[in-house]
Amino acid sequence: MRKEMPADPDSEKIKVSENKNTGGDGHTTVKDQDIHKGEPGLLHKLVRKKQLEGFFLFVTSRCNSNCKTCFYHDQLNSNQDMTFDEIRRMSETSPRFDKLWMSGGEPFLRDDLVDIIKLFYDNNHARVINLPTNGLLTKRIDEGVGRLIKECPDLQIHLNFSLDGLGATHDTIRGVPGNFKKTIASMELIKKKYGDYPNLIQNVATVVTPEALDEIFDLGVYLLKKDLIATQFFEVVRGDPKDPATKNLTEEQLKALRKKVYPLLEEQANRLFKDFDGVKRKIAKTYFLGFVRFVNELQDANYFGPSPWGMTCTAGKTTIVIDHNGAFRACEVRPAIGRMQDFDFDINKALHSDVMKKEIEEIGGGHKANCWCTHGCWLMSSLKFSPRALLFRIPWAQYKAKKDRIKDFVLPEIDVEAIEYYTVQKASSVGT
Ligand code: SF4
Ligand code: SF4
Repeated sequence: MRKEMPADPDSEKIKVSENKNTGGDGHTTVKDQDIHKGEPGLLHKLVRKKQLEGFFLFVTSRCNSNCKTCFYHDQLNSNQDMTFDEIRRMSETSPRFDKLWMSGGEPFLRDDLVDIIKLFYDNNHARVINLPTNGLLTKRIDEGVGRLIKECPDLQIHLNFSLDGLGATHDTIRGVPGNFKKTIASMELIKKKYGDYPNLIQNVATVVTPEALDEIFDLGVYLLKKDLIATQFFEVVRGDPKDPATKNLTEEQLKALRKKVYPLLEEQANRLFKDFDGVKRKIAKTYFLGFVRFVNELQDANYFGPSPWGMTCTAGKTTIVIDHNGAFRACEVRPAIGRMQDFDFDINKALHSDVMKKEIEEIGGGHKANCWCTHGCWLMSSLKFSPRALLFRIPWAQYKAKKDRIKDFVLPEIDVEAIEYYTVQKASSVGT
């Protein structure tokens, strides 16, 4: 049973009398049944039919950041966003799917964001949303999350804030003075108001660049010390970024980073599964840590050039990407293959179109596959359809990762004040 939400979400911190997701120490934890929702609930089904499971929607091209790492930079602020009615038509013609992956632009810049999410919740039974944000629009994020909790009670919300470095480094990478402070303020507010809500999981996505490499461990420690996250994923740059220099990491640097942050991931797992009993806890931790290592290994291998995943990429069969302007693709990396305008915004028609069949043929599968990339979303999506990955490769990845374990690791001391009270640079010296 869920507690009724307060009439005014601003008026009090949301309390949940049952099914809390925080332990006595306030950390985010996962209840037994929740392990089977979204990631890391991977063992829910070992054999899945290859049908639509992930709907990727670039809900707007508007953005208030100017990130050096952005792979969508040439599409931003192009004033061609689809209308609410066009998106409604897509929802009404789409089959059911599990997970809505929101993208942009900055999703919270769209006034009707929550209404759009509700469409997929009501019409398509979407029960997990991946909702990324740069964290700049505190009030909108607060209002949006408050509404989602109230109006979509069964939706598991993965609210993913972007943080790519500490203080001024983050601001420079994202081209926004004071970005770090604003994002932390947003995270603190959301945690304070909605931290006890069981279906909200607050995460951080960190894009690893040479510029911030030396700060990434401290960033992870800072977030854990402040208890602001359930998970933090460390991703390499995707696609063709605005500033190609953001992709200049060496193999040694990546390897060293993975080793260094492993204890932080273990700390995340310890907090997430601390309420599980003995064996269950061990399995959950193994799968969480093995899943992250498995995905990171394939990402890092593909960072330096195409390298087979050892499992089929299911792009186009289990996923569809809709750009802000109605163009559609099988995945975020390959080019657009059609326009929803030419299919009357009918998703079923686009999914079963000749262009999509041709695209799936070109992507190939197994040993006949033709392209490989670093994209974590498709790695996560595709591995669910590979019993071999689920049963063997994830536990094996965790077994190998154990060498990076530091026995009785405790978070090191860091200078939180220095991190939070850095000087915000002037706009002219930030960004490119
Ligand atoms: S990566 Fe940065 S610039 Fe690109 S859409 Fe996201 S927030 Fe905007
Ligand atoms: S491997 Fe990457 S580029 Fe190729 S189809 Fe899959 S997600 Fe797209």
